[in-house]
Amino acid sequence: MARRRQVYEGKAKVIFEGPEPGTYVAYFKDDATAFNNKKRGTITGKGVLNNRITEFLMLRLHDIGIPTHFIRRLNMREQLIRQVEIIPVEVIVRNVAAGSMAKRLGIPEGTPLPRSIVEYCYKSDELDDPLIAEEHITAFGWANPQDIDDFMAMTLRINDFLSGVFVAIGLKLVDFKLEFGRIVDENGDVRVILADELSPDNMRLWDIQTGEKMDKDRFRRDLGNVEEAYQEVARRLGILPEGADVQSIRDEPTD
Ligand code: 5GP
Repeated sequence: MARRRQVYEGKAKVIFEGPEPGTYVAYFKDDATAFNNKKRGTITGKGVLNNRITEFLMLRLHDIGIPTHFIRRLNMREQLIRQVEIIPVEVIVRNVAAGSMAKRLGIPEGTPLPRSIVEYCYKSDELDDPLIAEEHITAFGWANPQDIDDFMAMTLRINDFLSGVFVAIGLKLVDFKLEFGRIVDENGDVRVILADELSPDNMRLWDIQTGEKMDKDRFRRDLGNVEEAYQEVARRLGILPEGADVQSIRDEPTD
């Protein structure tokens, strides 16, 4: 394949110009970072698994009517996506107290929340993605009230749907991060759609039976068996056949 022009390199992905106007190619790396780049490492096979897991979940969300940037998976590490103008806001949904919220509010990790809580952070590596209020989003023009209504409606539906998908495979969706972007549709209207990836890199998944962490916290907190946890999530979703490891999907012919 001809070398593509790189548009952007993030912590876990590289974005290239796509083959058609209005598209990008997202390349999923094995690089892992945490605490805003202060901890770095590699999780072997992570890119392959996250590409697959994101494909699987984006397609399920498409099936229930959530518009996403995902077009199709190209090969083991790449997927074709729509170009969007990223809204610089991370939308975080929490069903159980964990991570930064547990720390910030002094709530023991694992405390179930009486209702799902949605938080916003400003996407800025230099500022460590600070927590913000809706007022900041509108005051600084990062999104308008209609955009916020649109992505909040999608967020709550995504939480209900994904919580169900994961309960069915014995995993609790503790929390996750979403990003949204704007596109101009065929009628010239601006629409907000789901962007970024959906993988154990940006969600917490706990085994319902054992409480074991099956996500990037294994890397962040040096719990070991990081690759195995990502593989197990993929296996339970039916992406990685029983008994297979990541090498087997890596060696699969690609289109
Ligand atoms: P926390 O705020 O507790 O660190 O994270 C809450 C949830 O959002 C976790 O599932 C975490 O993986 C995800 N999350 C928050 N910020 C980021 C981020 O900058 N990058 C990624 N990949 N995930 C994030």
